Amino acid sequence: MENLFNAIVINQSDDTPYCAKLDTVDTSALPDNDVSIDVLYSTLNYKDGLAITGKGPVVRSFPMVPGIDLVGKVSSCKTDEFQPGDTVILNGFGVGEKFWGGLAQKACLSSDWLIPKPSGLTAKQTMQIGTAGYTAMLSVIALEKQGITPASGDILVTGANGGVGSFAIYLLNKLGFSVVAVTGRPEQSEYLTHLGAKQIIHRDEFSKPGKPLAKERFAAAIDSVGSHTLANICASLKYGGVVTACGLAQGMDLPASVAPFILRGVSLIGIDSVMRPKADRIEAWDRLSSLVSAEYLDTISNEITLKDVINCANELMAANVRGRIVVNCQKS
Ligand code: NDP
Repeated sequence: MENLFNAIVINQSDDTPYCAKLDTVDTSALPDNDVSIDVLYSTLNYKDGLAITGKGPVVRSFPMVPGIDLVGKVSSCKTDEFQPGDTVILNGFGVGEKFWGGLAQKACLSSDWLIPKPSGLTAKQTMQIGTAGYTAMLSVIALEKQGITPASGDILVTGANGGVGSFAIYLLNKLGFSVVAVTGRPEQSEYLTHLGAKQIIHRDEFSKPGKPLAKERFAAAIDSVGSHTLANICASLKYGGVVTACGLAQGMDLPASVAPFILRGVSLIGIDSVMRPKADRIEAWDRLSSLVSAEYLDTISNEITLKDVINCANELMAANVRGRIVVNCQKS
């Protein structure tokens, strides 16, 4: 039936406990936005895992279709911005949290949230990259905008085996930077070296309370961990060093001192991918399109279909998944 489509739907009410299931939805239930899309691929991010399993307060209204990332073909657009047949990408903007998201065969979204797919990437490749790769690219661009170059010195990357961390290592190495990876999983060292890390440090060295100032070791850092790790990074940056902060894998706190900022001119740059303006998104995706190889993306990702999503989200929350999960939304 043409007006029915498959979607992961999360429900909760006074009578129904929190529950996600693969369901059939009528197109008339889609939100009233200006762009109607046939979703080709989505992904499973940590945030989607939290939403599907109910382990984190991600979903703000019910029923909700999760999925913070999607790529799809425009079937109709009420403005001139997109034409039927255009392929568009969505990352964030509260989609999959406040607004129906990408883990479905159809979506209806605001044109303000969408960008055209870069011509150098296939639809599937954009979702192999997803929010993790896009956030890593925003972080690398932020370092470049602060004047950090390969000649500046070593760049530290924390959460190295994570989505953002592993893309950051790969991208920095491609751009000629010397990368030092911080991980709690040294048994994955071979993988990190393969991505381009020239040195690997155990995260215990950064995760405990440290001194306000330490030896000047790194020119810059990309941090997705926060807490004591971010404080110790600030203390270990060289004069004029820069650190980007996008995540809180260790914690939301920042038990740091102002010493690195006022005595060494260190800069701390916040990275938000969710509400990022369109021009920055287009710049980041164009850079990804020129830097990321198909071979790399195929090594780090696995493809599933909508019927596998709920099991896979549980595995993701149990930390049994490595690499990126791409969801083929049209395949049953
Ligand atoms: P992942 O879960 O894929 O990776 C996080 C990594 O952090 C882990 O692989 C691990 O790396 C490390 N880690 C986990 N727990 C700890 C700990 N207690 N102490 C130190 N390190 C730890 O997540 P993502 O890479 O997708 O995201 C990373 C962070 O960035 C998350 O907090 C996420 O919410 C945030 N994020 C923010 C975005 C934004 O727009 N600001 C966008 C995307 C993500 P290893 O095993 O190598 O130690």
